[in-house]
Amino acid sequence: MALRLSTKSYRRTLQPPLRTAHGAWGEREGILLRVERPDGTVSWGEVAPLPWFGTETLAEAQDVLRKLGPDIDVTALELVPERFACVRFGLAAALAAAPAVATGKGKLPIAALLPAGRDARDVLRAKLEEGFLAFKWKVGVGRAEEEMPLLDELVAELPGYAKLRLDANGAWTTRDATRWLALCAERPVEFVEQPLMDADTLLGLAADFPVKLALDESVTGLAAAREWQERGWSGVFVIKPALAGPLEELVAWTKTTKPDLVLSSAVETALARAQILRVALAENLTSRPLGFGIGGLFGDRPWDGPVTGPLLDVSWCDGVNPEELWNAAS
Ligand code: MG
Repeated sequence: MALRLSTKSYRRTLQPPLRTAHGAWGEREGILLRVERPDGTVSWGEVAPLPWFGTETLAEAQDVLRKLGPDIDVTALELVPERFACVRFGLAAALAAAPAVATGKGKLPIAALLPAGRDARDVLRAKLEEGFLAFKWKVGVGRAEEEMPLLDELVAELPGYAKLRLDANGAWTTRDATRWLALCAERPVEFVEQPLMDADTLLGLAADFPVKLALDESVTGLAAAREWQERGWSGVFVIKPALAGPLEELVAWTKTTKPDLVLSSAVETALARAQILRVALAENLTSRPLGFGIGGLFGDRPWDGPVTGPLLDVSWCDGVNPEELWNAAS
């Protein structure tokens, strides 16, 4: 079947800029895809690379799409090499004839982000007021001696039903990690994300401490996740689906290997986030809170999607209009 592929690049200011382990991130660039069928029906995709996370660059993605050209057919995905995982994610979504239908009354909680350091407690209080059930606290930004005592201050605020995860973004030394994980062992901590980067040390820490560990920066794609499974990793995998190839591949991996999975945002727009959420709900990919706590970073309704509360469900997806984004992109 002859299909028509159109693309539009976007560049949006993030407000406020996102603090990451790689410095402040103030602008999100990506590509929207529109596929039109002979019968006039249209479907959508988004390519949102994160090169510092190990994906292709935006220029490489644009080049691959340019080479595909506007006239494609349903086999176009096979022409895109594995390593262009972001293009494969977006193109697969745009080639899917109909969006995944989420059945039942599925809802997933969002983990609200708590800033590093002392400010975390005030944000935690405010987010509890809003009804959030799950929280992610950035650690490894200040010195361990300063951050560690704050954990008990947060735990003291936490109702029994709430979950707290810590994210070190790979920043701890082995000594820091050992001290932190000993501290977490007796605290209600859901898991500790990416304490450090070295694989052997991570496997050792996972064996030595009772608190669950999660891999994030260590697993950009499913190939890396599979390697960790082969090495015996039984902790959590944080996967950013927009960086991990076609959603069908994520579904297949989840069904066959039953990973302990957290889905996380790569700061893609509402278009891709809604596609991810639909599939997550339809396929029951995870019951852990979503790492989608990016709120209104784009500062604009079509790009952010409907205002999000503590839970996401299909009605949120229904409030996302890809055509509106398409028209708003230059
Ligand atoms: Mg992380």
